[in-house]
Amino acid sequence: MAEPAGVPGSPAWLQGLVDALVDLSSRDPMTGLANRRSFEVALAREIDRVARSGEPALLLVMDIDHFKRVNDTWGHAAGDGVIKAVSGALLECVRPMDLVARTGGEEFAIVLPNCPAAFGETVAERVRRRVEHMPITVAPRQHIQVTISIGGAYAPQWVRSTTHLWIERADQQLYRAKAQGRNLVSLEPTAVSLVSTEEKRLLFETSQFLDFE
Ligand code: GH3
Ligand code: MG
Ligand code: MG
Repeated sequence: MAEPAGVPGSPAWLQGLVDALVDLSSRDPMTGLANRRSFEVALAREIDRVARSGEPALLLVMDIDHFKRVNDTWGHAAGDGVIKAVSGALLECVRPMDLVARTGGEEFAIVLPNCPAAFGETVAERVRRRVEHMPITVAPRQHIQVTISIGGAYAPQWVRSTTHLWIERADQQLYRAKAQGRNLVSLEPTAVSLVSTEEKRLLFETSQFLDFE
């Protein structure tokens, strides 16, 4: 961790220290991506936002295909290099408002706020292809390519959910992508909102329900 700037013990120095500690506790040290903890915080925040605004939000979960082979063939350090290269590729494919996290060993997630269905398909495919076509150096003059499988699910609009249920739905799609052959995207079909604009207005803007007595 970098030494905070300013006179040690001064308010600016203490603030720098707090900022550095927050950063340390929210990032995965190997890749610099958000860690599991800050991923779950971001997901909970997104659920609140979707329930309030009805804006679609997409969760993508991904896992490197046949990663054990990479470790077995090239060694654990080369495997670490592959994880870092994939992390960089994911970051290149998303908007500044999206959160990319390393949620496990060779598992990642992306939280995409305000993501219409057509954009979700496009971005997931872009991520999959970017990784597929990226040469990764695993030894002097040795390059390999890896693939990832991607599962995705949208947050239910106008209904409160839990982070656990949302992750579970995206995981089911990832499982499908793996079962159907890997190097694939599988997104849960978007739920059609059964609540009309007029009903939403009634539910969230009017006070007429308070006037019964
Ligand atoms: P699948 O296509 O089904 O995902 O096959 P897989 O071989 O990738 O299987 P799985 O996802 O279960 O394998 C995960 C492997 O990742 C097992 C573990 O040894 C390795 N691994 C987990 N964390 C790390 C890490 O930080 N560095 C390295 N080098 N390997 C890791
Ligand atoms: Mg895995
Ligand atoms: Mg894997």
